[in-house]
Amino acid sequence: MNLNAPLTIALSKGRILEQTLPLLAHAGIAPLEDPETSRKLILETTHPQVKFVIIRASDVPTYVQYGAADLGVSGKDVLLEHGGEGLYEPLDLGIARCRLMVAGKPDTQPPTSRRLRIATKYVHSAERYFAARGQQVEIIKLYGSMELAPLVGLADLIVDLVESGNTLKANGLVPLEHIADISSRLVVNKASWKMKHETVNALLTLLREAVTTRSAG
Ligand code: ATP
Ligand code: MG
Repeated sequence: MNLNAPLTIALSKGRILEQTLPLLAHAGIAPLEDPETSRKLILETTHPQVKFVIIRASDVPTYVQYGAADLGVSGKDVLLEHGGEGLYEPLDLGIARCRLMVAGKPDTQPPTSRRLRIATKYVHSAERYFAARGQQVEIIKLYGSMELAPLVGLADLIVDLVESGNTLKANGLVPLEHIADISSRLVVNKASWKMKHETVNALLTLLREAVTTRSAG
């Protein structure tokens, strides 16, 4: 790919990186060091104009919003929480697919003397979901291991990502309500989209091709 502007791409370790690298490889971009094992936060790539910054999944929209990265790959769950300000979301990469769901113990009864308590990392999505249904709930913000909350009486229900449902099942919980289908999206800084349009567009075309080929194959 012939780039006429430098590009910084924000990625997070784990499944997103693992599943994005083959797509970027289709565009001729590969990291010079293994991002999973390297301690470096900025990685050079096979393309002299392109570098990766390796950050927390939940920080990707922020880096891209402020232009610290031109592009990034972010889960729709994270984008729903962030709000998408300052970003374009031109491509669904179809990777890291799962569902945002309400889950709980199979015999959950709504409490009578207080509001329903929902434990989640996805405060905004949970608030929006229950507000749209006219349900008054109390949201308890957690940073992980949401499945524990209903087991120890911290919350009645959780809002969390569900892939196979095995983690829920292992903890005696069941998925109850579907909130949103989740996959990872390419996000682009709005100023980069304008200022580096040719370059961003060239990469976008190759990534779109890679996504189509992958889903066909
Ligand atoms: P961090 O703790 O660093 O803020 P994280 O623990 O959410 O991030 P991951 O678990 O790697 O990081 O998840 C990154 C993204 O992958 C999520 O934002 C979501 O879009 C997707 N994801 C998370 N869990 C699953 C899952 N079980 N199946 C498919 N995709 C998932
Ligand atoms: Mg995680």
